[in-house]
Amino acid sequence: MSEQPKSRLPWALALPARVLLVAGAAFALLSCDDTRQEVERRAAEVIGEAATARLTGSGEGMERAADLINIPVEVRPLAEGVYQARGVANTHMVATDEGKVVFDTGFALQAAKQRRLLQETVPDGPVTHVILSHSHADHSGGTRFWLEDGVEIVAHQEFPEEQRYLKELEPYLHYRNRTLFPFIPEKPPNIGFLRYGGIEPTILVGNGEPYRFELGGTRFEVIGTPGAEGADNLVLWLPEQKILFSGDFFGPNFPQFPNVFTMRGEKIRKPIEYIHSLNRVIALEPEMIVPSHNDPITGREKIRADLVRMRDAVQYVHDAIIAGMNAGKTVHELMAEITLPPELELRQTHGRVSWAVKSIWEYYATWFHFDSTTELYAVPASTIYPELVELAGVDALVERARRHIAAQEPVQALHLLDIALGSETDDRAALEARRAALQILLDDAEAGLRNSYEIDWLRYRLRETEERLGAAPAAG
Ligand SMILES: [Zn+2]
Repeated sequence: MSEQPKSRLPWALALPARVLLVAGAAFALLSCDDTRQEVERRAAEVIGEAATARLTGSGEGMERAADLINIPVEVRPLAEGVYQARGVANTHMVATDEGKVVFDTGFALQAAKQRRLLQETVPDGPVTHVILSHSHADHSGGTRFWLEDGVEIVAHQEFPEEQRYLKELEPYLHYRNRTLFPFIPEKPPNIGFLRYGGIEPTILVGNGEPYRFELGGTRFEVIGTPGAEGADNLVLWLPEQKILFSGDFFGPNFPQFPNVFTMRGEKIRKPIEYIHSLNRVIALEPEMIVPSHNDPITGREKIRADLVRMRDAVQYVHDAIIAGMNAGKTVHELMAEITLPPELELRQTHGRVSWAVKSIWEYYATWFHFDSTTELYAVPASTIYPELVELAGVDALVERARRHIAAQEPVQALHLLDIALGSETDDRAALEARRAALQILLDDAEAGLRNSYEIDWLRYRLRETEERLGAAPAAG
């Protein structure tokens, strides 16, 4: 590892000195508790503006997570009394004569500005409820900016547990997120009011009866809908307006095949739980869906048809896995075999059927695949790669890998190159072959499913291969 000393500093220290001076001066003015929150909000906005100005997405449109950073932070009305502050994740406000309800509080770096713009749009009336769709940092990051005396924080009953594990595993998760999404800050925010976690809900909602309340004549229902983006998902339903605030229940795009697996390495998600949750949402018959990423969707018939297709697609994949497991098929056979029939075809830019197969298989069967005795011991195949290299020679392995590349079999090539590079880490020919194999996979991914995670992973591996090639000794 030849990390530059600078990159080990907390990300905030890499901000322009002027920004830190402004933020520092704001803190210095603190004189009593009443102003502390307002000062924090102003400092957060200055720091957030400076940090996000330095971040850019992939520039490819709104299909990829990396592009959410390009969405301008601004408020737009969605229906009477319903406002959305856009951003990486949207924050919503439902205004009534007696007060205001907030749904999701956004990405910490944008949340203070989202709050200010919403409060300027609807200055009158207290905020009575802040409802959090789930514990992910991009949906709960601005909660502290909304806290006033008497505000209820409404979250799912699993929220505290999800927040706990996401906080305890923060360094591990941040490394993975940062690897996949290079646009996010290098280190988790290290300034108190931008830090993840510490939210204490005052009202917990389970998966049974909704939490119902009325404010200024508007009825609100908070419904537990676990299964897609975590065990602590909930949605907000306005029964009179027939508007569903869906948080991340559908992921960033609607409709799509859901992400029952996360490449960034979160806990398993339960497929049948998600089907139950989809059934609850279908029964509501929404006329407008307002997700916390990207744009609202309208049209009762279209929404219903898409919801039914999502439910049936998950059920279809699930049932095919069960049948395959009972027939004694391996997880890899099922990954290759199970595809959606044409009538259930769904976009796989976020979730992906073959990965769902593996996740659901392992959800039921866990990690022991009943294949090899070696699975039971802490001695992976890579332990003997140097011996294989000794027997076959790096050149022979690379030559065989090249043949697979020529035959458009990049994964077979990568297996051989893992062996070669497992022993000869800077072999130029092996690295060049790896670059060629990864490029085939990336071209296929971009021309095929356009799965955001697959593309982000392959780009990361290509970057890493290029770096190693740059440092490798010249061929000779
Ligand atoms: Zn999200």
